[in-house]
Formats: sequence, structure tokens, C-alpha cells
Amino acid sequence: MTLQRNLPRLSEHFTAYYHMSIKLQELADKLNLTLPELREKIAEFGFDVSPKARTIDEEVAELVESELTTKPEPEEAGDVADIYDEMISQQQERELIKKQRKRTAGKDAKKDFKSDTSIGSSINSDNIEIGDVITVKEFSEKSGINVAKIIGELMKNGILANINQQIDFETASIIAEDLGIKLKRKREAAGVDEFMSGDITKLLHEDDTNLLKERPPVVVVMGHVDHGKTQLLDTIRESNVVAKESGGITQHIGAYQVVKKGKAITFLDTPGHEAFTSMRARGAKVTDVAILVVAADEGVKPQTVEAYNHAKEAGVPIIVALNKMDKPDANPDKVKGELSEIGLQPEDWGGNTVVVPVSAIKGDGIDDLLDMILLNSEMLDLKANPEREAVGTVIEAHLDKSLGPVATILVNTGTLKITDNVIVGETFGKIKLMRDSYGKALRIAGPSTPVQVAGLHTTPKSGDILHVVRDEKTARQRAEEVSLKTKENAIAKGMESVISHMKSEKVLKLIVKADTKGSLEAIKQSLAKIKHEDVAVKIIHSGVGTVTETDVMMAAASNGIVMAFHSDIFSPNVKKTAEREHVEIIQYTVIYDLIEDVKKILSGLLEPEILEITIGRANVRQVFLTKKKEMIIGCRVLSGKMQNRASLRIIRFVNGEEEIVGNGEIRSLRKVDEEVKEIGEGNECGIKFVGDVSLEEGDIIEAYRKEEKQRSII
Ligand code: GDP
Repeated sequence: MTLQRNLPRLSEHFTAYYHMSIKLQELADKLNLTLPELREKIAEFGFDVSPKARTIDEEVAELVESELTTKPEPEEAGDVADIYDEMISQQQERELIKKQRKRTAGKDAKKDFKSDTSIGSSINSDNIEIGDVITVKEFSEKSGINVAKIIGELMKNGILANINQQIDFETASIIAEDLGIKLKRKREAAGVDEFMSGDITKLLHEDDTNLLKERPPVVVVMGHVDHGKTQLLDTIRESNVVAKESGGITQHIGAYQVVKKGKAITFLDTPGHEAFTSMRARGAKVTDVAILVVAADEGVKPQTVEAYNHAKEAGVPIIVALNKMDKPDANPDKVKGELSEIGLQPEDWGGNTVVVPVSAIKGDGIDDLLDMILLNSEMLDLKANPEREAVGTVIEAHLDKSLGPVATILVNTGTLKITDNVIVGETFGKIKLMRDSYGKALRIAGPSTPVQVAGLHTTPKSGDILHVVRDEKTARQRAEEVSLKTKENAIAKGMESVISHMKSEKVLKLIVKADTKGSLEAIKQSLAKIKHEDVAVKIIHSGVGTVTETDVMMAAASNGIVMAFHSDIFSPNVKKTAEREHVEIIQYTVIYDLIEDVKKILSGLLEPEILEITIGRANVRQVFLTKKKEMIIGCRVLSGKMQNRASLRIIRFVNGEEEIVGNGEIRSLRKVDEEVKEIGEGNECGIKFVGDVSLEEGDIIEAYRKEEKQRSII
């Protein structure tokens, strides 16, 4: 059922501004009402109509008529909740119209409508910024558009909304546009989820395509080892005019830009597809074109295929750079054949893969390659909005001795400026220094520009998102939220995986570090004494000294725990690695505590023991009714008690010996006519029995309950 179906066709009346009057008597006759009845109805609809008035505005008349003659369409036998919802919203709608129209009936109508149409003067047509959603009321306040008008416009578009209802940005834009107003979406700081996932898709969204400007392509170089990726990147960089002009010392900051025919191209300077893949794994889509470097003498190799697959999966167009063409054994035709085999049919072989022969070492073909990149990006129609606050991706980051945390940011959209407040993954800061890969200091960096920045509180990770926010407080708060959530997730995830792994294997894997050889031996001996048939301790690695990153990595790889006895406080790096790899490091100063903890963990791995506790016995005196697997029996409690829902063992005397012949359960327990929970020794009772055996008179039923008992390693 849609909301629209039952809409009283109010919208047309509401938004069409006629100024003609209708005689009340005429309307009353038409509607088969007396004049006082009509007046009452008009008042009910929320219009002020004076007892002396002879006419009403035509618009009001139509509205009243429509309200009184529109019969609700027969309801489908639909969801009652939906019908209620609709009724409620219609009611709200009427109330709202009442409020809005209180003053518009009778003589005042024209005046009011006049002021309504002249609203343009009070409309704030400049820079109306709203968020993803806004209530009708707020929208009215911000835009200066009368609430009634907004509701009317919404109705025209088939949306029945009341004053407190939220409408989304898109809807608000449509309405505003109809009234000649332009809305701008107010961007909130990226959410915690976005920072954690590294997904910038939502942040890059631009509502107004007019603000989009062409941006340089971002290119990644991939391919098999030794096929010349680094050489190609170096040659392209050196051939760049800007580098020569700036005269600065080129620095490898993870990305650089070159200019060809007045157009910039950004290269990610991290050869190999690891960076590309890890960033992509986090949802960061930073590259537009992939250059697949294939050595003309060696041809397609396993990593060539792997790189191709990565780019294909990411939907990034590929240009093949057929490198080392200067080599005497270069065999381009053979390589083209191999490329065709993996699905990269060269253009001159009838396919659509651009293959550019180059010699990275000599610089031959580099111009052609750059031309091809530009041609490709023209077709890709790459755009971004340089006018907005910047969103960027961390390409790489490190701790600099003099500058502190330094990160290379690829600006994805917007313009990053010196002094901007930023959130970067789990950290934040104020951009205090910005330079390009030629060492040139910059004050601003537009879309697709890679820049090295300083001013962050801690070192971010590659693939982290950068987002400019309005002030330091927002940046700090959001960074704290992200950091907290990340830690929570890491701990939960880490321990979860360790425990589930241990549970499935029933082995606790340990990395043991101790301060001296003696204490290490003592720990190992104590651990060796812990023996149990169902669970075990396995020391993956042990040693004397502090906990190192290798220890952590070993624990991570084996889903184990690091136990450190009197081992020095480890370096922040080790802590960081442990956090990242979700590895638990526990420090001890007493061997006994360490052993006890191991026992506790092992005990947790043991399946609980199921105990059966006998609660009573009764003998079957009569069998009243027998259905398939269900019987009504009369019993007498011999000892203990019978309890409703208790499990039963059926005992029969076979050759004078007690024998368990089956199992069952008490489904209902009665004392005379009354349903009871339990019944004590010496009493008669009726039992509804369900079980796997047919009961006979003289059988003994033994009631018991099951209890789980956690086992422990002593
Ligand atoms: P990467 O592992 O793909 O980054 O490969 P490198 O750029 O390190 O290059 C591997 C080797 O191939 C180096 O010894 C380069 O000097 C050499 N090399 C790279 N490009 C060319 C080229 O165009 N011609 C020749 N003859 N050698 C090249």
C-alpha cells in the first residue's frame, strides 16, 4: 500500500493560488448540507469563517468539498499497521493544514497568499547548507520558505509529510529547485565507520556536478619483479620538466606528479601491487590507471598475471608498457602473444589493450606512454571538486626525526591547505608543513596532488583516510572515537579468533619470554607437568630477553599468546604490532601466576561435564492412555520427588534385576485435577509421559536433572 494511493487530492488545491470567492450557500447546497453545518465543517478543517461571511475563497471551498466528497478507497486486506500509519499521517496532515490555514480563509486569504508568493524576498537563496536529512520545520527556517508551501510541494511530489518529518537532501533539493533556490549539502566529518574501513566513496560524493573540475589521473605501476617498474618510475620522474625547474632535491615520498603537454599525471611511487592491494582491500579506490610493466625479453610471468588480475578486479584500466625494448633478445611479438593468452589482446592484434613499447633505461617511448595515459584519462572523464574541504588517502607515513609524524597524502578531492584541521585515520592534527616530491613547499594542494604533510599527532597507516574538519575539537573528538572503536574491535576480534582457534584445536600455543635462563627453565618444567588427555600446552617459541616483534608475529601466525616473565617493558613498536595483529601479551612477575593462568585457559578449553542428578523415583501403577510415544500414567512417588519437565530413566525388573529399558520426560504433572510443578514422596500423581518406550504397570521411573559442570585442570 503506498501513501499516495489514499492521498486526498489536496495538493493541487493547496498549491494553486486562486483568489476567487464562492458563495457559501452554493457550496452547502452542493454538499447537501445546511449553512450552519457547512460552517461547522469549515471550522473543523481549521479555517476561520465568520458567522456573517457569505463567501469563502474558492480554494478553501475546493478543499472542503474535496475533503467531504473523497471516499477512502477500499482497503486491501493489508497490513493493519500500514493502515494505521496512514491514518495517523493523514490526521497529522489535517492538523497541520488547520494550523497553516487558520488565517487564510475568508478575506485574509489574498493577503496571505500574496505574502506567500512574495516569499522570494525573504528566501535565503545564498548558501543554504543542509545535511543529509532535515525536518520540514528546519528546512523552512533555513530556507525562508513557508512550511505550508514546503508541504504542498512535497505533496505535489507524492510525499505526505508533516512539520516534524525528516526529508532527505535530495528531496529538499528538488523542492528548493522548483522554487528557484539552490541547496548545498553540508558535509559532516566522515563517520567512524568510514575512517575505520578506509572507504572514501561516500565522502567523494558530489551533489552539484557543476562544481566538478577535471583532475589529473592517478597511475599505479605494476608487474613482475625485475621487469623495470622502479626504473620506469625513475625515468618518468627525471624526464619531468617541473623537477628540473624547481631544482629541489627529489625525495621519494610515495607518489609524485609530472606534467606533460600542460597536463599533470600523478604516479604512485610504490612499485608492486602490495600497496595497491592493501589500500584496495581497505576500500580505498585511489588509482585510475594501471601500467602493467612487462619485460620484452622475458614476457608474461606469474606476477604479471597476478597484477593484471588485481587491476581487473579493481576495475582499473590497464596500459601495458612493453619494457626493455633496447635489449637484443627483446621479442615483442612473442610477448604480445602471451598477453593475448591472458586476455590482454593488443590493439594492433585486433584487441583493445594499449601496448606501448618502451625502454625505461634509455627513455625511449616514455612520451608515448604518457600520451596514452592522458588519452585514457580523457576518456575516463576524471573529475573532482577543488572548492570543497579536502579528502585524501595516506599513501605512506613515517616518523621523522625533526618533523615528527610525516605522511604522504594523495588528495582525492577538495583542496588541502596549510593550517587545515584534519582527522587522519585514528589520529588528527593541523597541517603545518606541506611539500611535493621535489621538496617544494606548498600552501595548497588540489585534487590528485600527492603531498607530504607534517603536523599530525601520531603516524597514520597507509590507506587511512584524511578529512578536513572545521576545528581542532572536532578533529580530536572524531580521532578519539575512531581510535577507541578500533581498539575495541581489535581486542574483540583478536581474542575471539585466538579462543575459537584454541577451542577447535584444544591446544594453547605459547611464546614464553623470561628474564633469565634459569627462570625460563623453571617455567618450561612447570608447564611440562600440566597434562590432560583433552587439552595441551604447546610452546611455539621460548627465549631470554624482551618481547620482540618477531615473538608477536610468531604468536600471530600460530594464534597463540605471548607470556613474558620479568621481561622488560617492550618497545611501543612491539605493542603496536601486537595491537595490529591482535596478539595478547601477558606479563608476569610470579611463576605461579603464569602457570595458574595457563591452567585457567586450558580449563576453559575443556568441554563441561554433564552431570545427571537423581531427584526421585516413582512406580507406575496404572496406564490410562497410550498414544504413539505419549502416555498418561498414574504413579506413586517412592522416594524424593517428581518434577514437571524432569528427564526420566525407565527401570524394569527383568529376571528379578533392575534394568534401564528406556528414557523419557515428564510433560505434565498432576495431583488429582491440579497441575503441579512437583510432588513429594508418598503421593499419588498423574503424569503425561513422552519417551522411547511403552510403559508398563510395575515399571519404575527415575527422575533426574542435567547439570553442566565446568571441568578444570588441577
Ligand atoms: P622492478 O623490480 O620491476 O622494480 O625492476 P627494476 O626497475 O629494479 O629493474 C630491474 C633491472 O632491469 C635493473 O637492473 C634495471 O636496470 C633493468 N632495467 C629496467 N628497465 C630496463 C630497460 O628498459 N632496459 C634494460 N636493458 N634494462 C632495464
